[in-house]
Amino acid sequence: MVGFNDAPLIQSIAVPGVCLLIAFLGYFSQIVFRYSTTLEPGPPTTQETVTFNILLATLYYTYYQAVTVDPGRYVFQDAVIEVDEKKRWCKKCEAPKPPRAHHCRHCERCVPKMDHHCPWTRNCVSLTTFPHFLRFLVYTNLALWVLGRLLWHRYYSLWENRHMPAYLGPSLSALVALAIISLVHFVVTVALGIMLFTTLKSWVFNQTMIEGWEQDRHETIAERGGRDWWDVTGPGGEKFRFEKIEFPYDIGFFNNMSQAMGTSNVLWWFFPFAGNPAVGKNERGVGWEWEENGFNRQTGMWPPPDPEKIRRATRQWPAGRRDFAAELREVDESAEARKEAFRERQEADRRRKQAIVAELEEDEVDDDSGGDLDDVPYADDRAPGWTNSDGERLRDYGVDEDAEEGLDDDVPLGELLKRRKAHRQTDEH
Ligand SMILES: [Zn+2]
Ligand SMILES: [Zn+2]
Repeated sequence: MVGFNDAPLIQSIAVPGVCLLIAFLGYFSQIVFRYSTTLEPGPPTTQETVTFNILLATLYYTYYQAVTVDPGRYVFQDAVIEVDEKKRWCKKCEAPKPPRAHHCRHCERCVPKMDHHCPWTRNCVSLTTFPHFLRFLVYTNLALWVLGRLLWHRYYSLWENRHMPAYLGPSLSALVALAIISLVHFVVTVALGIMLFTTLKSWVFNQTMIEGWEQDRHETIAERGGRDWWDVTGPGGEKFRFEKIEFPYDIGFFNNMSQAMGTSNVLWWFFPFAGNPAVGKNERGVGWEWEENGFNRQTGMWPPPDPEKIRRATRQWPAGRRDFAAELREVDESAEARKEAFRERQEADRRRKQAIVAELEEDEVDDDSGGDLDDVPYADDRAPGWTNSDGERLRDYGVDEDAEEGLDDDVPLGELLKRRKAHRQTDEH
């Protein structure tokens, strides 16, 4: 489903298309049932009509909310953001990326608790839009089941009257209309049933579609490695530890569900006019920090790194990493000292590069060398990265992979320098 985000036709007709589809199933069916004089058992009862129309109004309203509610954004208090090299960084927003946020290439910003960018609502399913999206799916499915019951009654009457002469039965146009409605109803019911199921699962387990993908990738890599942990050599020669990580945001199903709906009041969860959680102010609270279940040795370990990405970066830019701390120190030094430091760094890079190349060559000869498991079989280096069993990449969920996790997540040096300068200016005043 998520792959539809890039189909140009679907992009432009998604929302009016969905509205038309609802109108067709919701109102054309009622016209046929009410005005076809030959279709048994006649018009729906008042109770059936009222129930169905209330559901239709509710699902239209919740769809409107799912389409129009803002997926949320991060507002930073100061022009100077606290420097923390451990935090994830979005180079598109030029700002830190809080946990569970991803940069959506359609919304063009970091979206809090991004689940996926939905082609049918042309909006992100996120911290703020999730409750509306879930309510829309629940009411749509209820309406589809009510319509299914109405259709079933008509088919049952047909079957009961199967021995009657055909000319006493329903007209051909009524039968054709019934068949078309049933066909569309069946396809939509299956598709929306699957969507409801996956969304309910994501709600109860507090795991977004993107996080589900990350977990799949993590488990596949861990399985291929056959160990609980191993070291991967980064582009600067540094070691990254790959270890098994538990999904940390599942904090018990009731807490998961309350957190997503923004309230622990169960009655409020499915109230169509209920609101949604809002991103916290002052860089704190909802959307900025997330409670963890404590199954990992420390907090903030999610998402698990992709050793393949690190390996690839190593091959492409051996020793390409820079020593931020050293470069920051040099800002205050004289031009001569800076030149000297640069030469030293260049020499250190050259040595490191040599060491890595030697290590790589060694790896190619001896597969079982040492404790490193850099040679865990991965996909081809030219392959476009990991895909799940449906062939989906993070890009298919709307994520801007250029701004995504991995080595690029580090705070860039330019940013560190900018902040340092700004800090100094504020100190002087
Ligand atoms: Zn961003
Ligand atoms: Zn989006």
